[in-house]
Amino acid sequence: MPSLSDHEIIIIGGGAIGAGCAYALAKAGHTDVLVLDRADDVGAVTTAQGAGLCGQIRDSAERIRLAMHSVATFRELQAGEVKPDWHEVGSVRVALTARRAEEFDRLIVAADAAGLEARLIDHAEASRRWPLMEFDGAKSVLWCPSDGYMTPRCVAASYRHHAEKLGVRFATATALEDLLVKNGRVAGVKTSRGSAGCRYVVNAAGANAYHVARLAGLELPIFPVRHEYFVTVPMDGLTADLPCFRIPELTLYGRVREGGLLLGGWEPKALSTDPHSFAPDNAPPPVVTDWPVLDSFEESFSRLFPTARAAQKSWVGKGWPTFTPDGRFLIGESSRVPGFVMAGGCNAHGISGSGGIGKLLVESLFDPHPGEYALSLSPDRFTESSWDWEEARRRAVQVYETYYGV
Ligand SMILES: Cc1cc2nc3c(=O)[nH]c(=O)nc-3n(C[C@H](O)[C@H](O)[C@H](O)COP(=O)(O)OP(=O)(O)OC[C@H]3O[C@@H](n4cnc5c(N)ncnc54)[C@H](O)[C@@H]3O)c2cc1C
Repeated sequence: MPSLSDHEIIIIGGGAIGAGCAYALAKAGHTDVLVLDRADDVGAVTTAQGAGLCGQIRDSAERIRLAMHSVATFRELQAGEVKPDWHEVGSVRVALTARRAEEFDRLIVAADAAGLEARLIDHAEASRRWPLMEFDGAKSVLWCPSDGYMTPRCVAASYRHHAEKLGVRFATATALEDLLVKNGRVAGVKTSRGSAGCRYVVNAAGANAYHVARLAGLELPIFPVRHEYFVTVPMDGLTADLPCFRIPELTLYGRVREGGLLLGGWEPKALSTDPHSFAPDNAPPPVVTDWPVLDSFEESFSRLFPTARAAQKSWVGKGWPTFTPDGRFLIGESSRVPGFVMAGGCNAHGISGSGGIGKLLVESLFDPHPGEYALSLSPDRFTESSWDWEEARRRAVQVYETYYGV
């Protein structure tokens, strides 16, 4: 294998976020970029396990615009020869209580402010869009026509292909071992294939992002929290064009995958792993399928979709997406270690967020006047004195547990 050469920007991690940042940088004209991943292919770790839903309805116009940029990116990539497998099937969000229905009204206001089409639909329309689901108990159903789903590994492969065409280099089976810091600023990387100089290192190392930040002398609150879903064998009536769905009160989401039902959820007692408990050169411990948790998703969902109960489960997706104590992405350069740049803290929507994250990364690094939203995601919001490890971990887990909190 040839040794590595110097680049302006070296990205650590070729998951959806790292590969997406490479594509965004290249499109903005920054093509002197190298992406390193210790896995044999891009998108092979957390990204490969993702359910692939992309929902744009969020609680603020900025967050919605970020997701809208991702959708625009998926559409653009879908028109190319290596596709993310983007299906723009729309989504239904079902409220089972009056309080949730009021939240939907507020979400529509935020969507309007961002320029996203989202509207309430009646039971008849909801049943037309998802004939197998029972909407009798629904207080409100929110429809977003431009939501959809993709195949996460294909997303990473598509970013890679399009970024390479623009001149970006990818080095897989190449592990970061250390960061070279000179006079307080990042100067390069030491890897399993030798060293290389750079002006910026982008930390997109997913569940190892805490460790990579430590190599730069930074302590950042990035906590892996377990997440799982299951897929059933194909069922009658489940077609690829059915919308994604979310049922916040049951803390469930899902879609159709290969003719089966994909059903995931946020359990009330989440399991996190302490990044101190595994070595920087190791992945977090493997996730052991938690059947009682998955069965509880199925049980809750049977209220709206009784026939799903009888379907055999054929596959489980599981992994360690990372969470931050404030539930927000970490994007941008550290002022404490110039040249060290974060692109992570995915809070379990890093695939759907990847297009927007890439855009904000470019803005925060190269726009002379980055917007307030981009600045607010900076890693500088966590200085060592501003947070306590145990408290931050507790809050990050709480972000997971209250994912659909009002
Ligand atoms: C069960 C499940 C369902 C999910 N569903 C969705 C969903 O529907 N929609 C959504 O948007 N998100 C979803 N997510 C979250 C999503 O998977 C993550 O947000 C996303 O994959 C994070 O991407 P990443 O690039 O940060 O991490 P990763 O994909 O983990 O990529 C990080 C990369 O860094 C590499 N790396 C680490 N350390 C080093 C090193 N020292 N040297 C070189 N390389 C290194 C790893 O090999 C890895 O490839 C889900 C996650 C799970 C687990």
